[in-house]
Amino acid sequence: MFRDRIFQDQVAVITGGGTGLGRAFSLRFAELGARVALASRNPEHLAATRDEIRRAGGQALAMPADVRKPEDVEAVMRAAKDEFGGIDMLINNAAGNFLCRAEKLSYNGWRSVVDIVLNGTFYCCRAAFPYLRERHPGRILNILATYAEGASPGTVHSAAAKAGVLALTRTLAVEWAEYGIQVKAIAPGLFPTPGAAERLWPGDPAGQEARMRQMIPAGRAGRHDELANLAAYLCSPYASYITGEAVVIDGGMSWNHPLFDWRSV
Ligand code: NAP
Repeated sequence: MFRDRIFQDQVAVITGGGTGLGRAFSLRFAELGARVALASRNPEHLAATRDEIRRAGGQALAMPADVRKPEDVEAVMRAAKDEFGGIDMLINNAAGNFLCRAEKLSYNGWRSVVDIVLNGTFYCCRAAFPYLRERHPGRILNILATYAEGASPGTVHSAAAKAGVLALTRTLAVEWAEYGIQVKAIAPGLFPTPGAAERLWPGDPAGQEARMRQMIPAGRAGRHDELANLAAYLCSPYASYITGEAVVIDGGMSWNHPLFDWRSV
């Protein structure tokens, strides 16, 4: 599907790039030739993925950073520039989430998720801007969730923050087009990861995943390679006229709200 090494000599900064879906983005972009800078809080999360990329012959940098801290984020972008010569792509994938009814959600819990998802995404975009504008084109890819355009009972903090990131995506796409920067987003449905299982499907992860699968017309959860290939497509020259757009990848889940018992007719 892709030209071999379509990202040769390009640099991608990927937040939360050591685990789950972030790891899938990191490995795929490295496979396609990108030099990858991974950033998240836990150095152990980063080291395993960095080493995996290096063992496969790729180039990777691990930068411990908390996206809630502008000074950390600035340091990540500087390190990517110093080590790899610039930044072509930024994937804002880091997130926090947990299940809680809105009336029980502490102010701190609300603040924490909004800080990571919404503020963290803006800080990364802002800090990467001077480097991205030097590239043609610079690309930002924000990882949303399908509920960014709807509602998510049980995770109001994440729903509100992801909706904010969607508005950020569209607004920056317009403001930064004149600098040659494309800003796009992906809204994933169900893609099992240890992080999501631990925080969102506690107790009986397998049972809860099976229940969710029933709501997906495709009849299954998404695979990490399907998501990573969509990310690669959106950052590739094949998608050079796409900006300000959020692409849903959910096996049809978002449209599955039948009023009628259509299967029985
Ligand atoms: P995950 O493995 O838990 O990923 C979260 C990542 O964010 C971790 O690598 C974590 O690393 C990093 N992170 C958390 N707080 C951070 C902070 N303050 N600063 C820097 N990094 C931080 O979860 P995932 O399932 O792969 O999710 C990845 C993305 O996809 C998220 O944006 C999520 O909202 C979105 N998504 C996932 C699904 C799904 O089904 N899995 C569905 C819809 C959307 P550290 O712990 O090392 O900081």
